Amino acid sequence: MIIRGGTVVDTDPVAVRVADVLLNGGRIAAVGPDLPVPEETEVLDATGMLVLPGFVDTHRHTWQAGLRARRPDISLATYLEFVFGAVGPRYRPEDVHIGTLVGALECLDAGITTVVDWNHIQHTPDHTAAALDALERAGIRVVFGYCTREPDLATARRVLAATGGLVTMAIAPFGPEIVSEEAALREWRIAKELDLPVTVHMGGNGVESAERGLDFLRRNRLLGPRTSYAHGNHFTDEHLKAIADSGGALSVSPVVEMQLGFGAPVTSRAFAAGAPTGLGADTVINGPGDMFSLMRSAYAHARLDSDFTTRDALRAATVEGAKAAALDGVGTLAAGSHADLVLLRTDLPGVAPVHDAVGSVVLAMDTRAVDTVLVGGRIVKRHGRLLAENVATLLTELEESVERVTATA
Ligand SMILES: [Zn+2]
Repeated sequence: MIIRGGTVVDTDPVAVRVADVLLNGGRIAAVGPDLPVPEETEVLDATGMLVLPGFVDTHRHTWQAGLRARRPDISLATYLEFVFGAVGPRYRPEDVHIGTLVGALECLDAGITTVVDWNHIQHTPDHTAAALDALERAGIRVVFGYCTREPDLATARRVLAATGGLVTMAIAPFGPEIVSEEAALREWRIAKELDLPVTVHMGGNGVESAERGLDFLRRNRLLGPRTSYAHGNHFTDEHLKAIADSGGALSVSPVVEMQLGFGAPVTSRAFAAGAPTGLGADTVINGPGDMFSLMRSAYAHARLDSDFTTRDALRAATVEGAKAAALDGVGTLAAGSHADLVLLRTDLPGVAPVHDAVGSVVLAMDTRAVDTVLVGGRIVKRHGRLLAENVATLLTELEESVERVTATA
């Protein structure tokens, strides 16, 4: 397939030019003006559109899609009680399935082609299987976070064996700020044993907790690469530098962090420390699920105390996010990368005219502009519509599931 005549916005480094994108075998073969077209190549006309690498969401509890805006104005304590006390225990495998499926389709619809699914609803192996099945069915690239209160190597190994194709795996520890040091050590041991990346909530629970958590990692020599720290609000600049030096990364969920009172998003400080920094929706219970909202809020907040640019915001949503997700070949349009692409319309009120493509993406666009989405060279959204699923039926199914789950909440 060749994507013809669009304005190509690459991310590493950020560069804008009119060019074609030639795809082959699910990968990007070449990017350039007037590329010769091999015979029998499908042509996708991108005239008047921006062509970008798909967005990377580095932290999302995808299963919560049915709880969207259910608790818009809550505190962290109420959020935790709602999720883990009231509704979470009521989720059956089929509830996890429909929630995760709609959550993943919501990502694709919004141009998010990769998601780090922080899956903390794995009550039983059937719940895990339901989540994995939903993610595969959606056709999104995913880093599936294995997370349970009682993690064990044999189960983790079985989950790993169930991944493949677009689905890879990470260990999602509760970590030293939430569980005991002994339990946290067990979580990291599994990651080491299976040679998997780690994605952990840390640094968002106050200054002392952040200090204690980082000290734990240092003492146990667990501060290392392929580790992403979600939130990190209370890490000091010195902590962030240590994370950067260790090859670790940050995942910022700007809206939810500010809204739940975690603290100031760490975006500008993490960039300054040289740590790869991605963005995440975290939860749609009390925040938006699309990358435009996340870029905009991270950008606006970061500008309070830095010269953070729209280019930085775009990088956070793409190539920096890919680093935080510990994925190669994602988040840029470099030859050899996965053909995960998004085509954005510019002929819309509120978007046109486009003077600065990156500025327009970060400041002016929303999900409405997402015309076409490809994952691994496969079209999943075209002309503004998801192709794979009967979305209306799925939304009805989701509402039925959530009605039961939230009956007493
Ligand atoms: Zn989270």
